Amino acid sequence: MADYRLCDVCDGKAFYDSNLDYEFVGQSSCGGEKITPDDCTRVVGEPPTEFFGYKLQYLGDWAVLCKNCAKTHKCVIVPLQDAQSGEEKRG
Ligand SMILES: [Zn+2]
Repeated sequence: MADYRLCDVCDGKAFYDSNLDYEFVGQSSCGGEKITPDDCTRVVGEPPTEFFGYKLQYLGDWAVLCKNCAKTHKCVIVPLQDAQSGEEKRG
């Protein structure tokens, strides 16, 4: 992985994240337990895949915008139930 958390819109650099405590799927946590996808942070609401995911302390989900994309986009937090019913309406 790059040393930067990338923007979730344009994949440009958002911030330097090399010092963050990422723990990746398949690795052992400091407690000795293997990290599973269930432990992992969602990215823009998407769960990790079986092969790539990471845990970052107590983070559950996040979305990141670079300065440029923040001029035209914003992050929105909604309850999961609302998001699901919205998808049903679309389908
Ligand atoms: Zn961007």
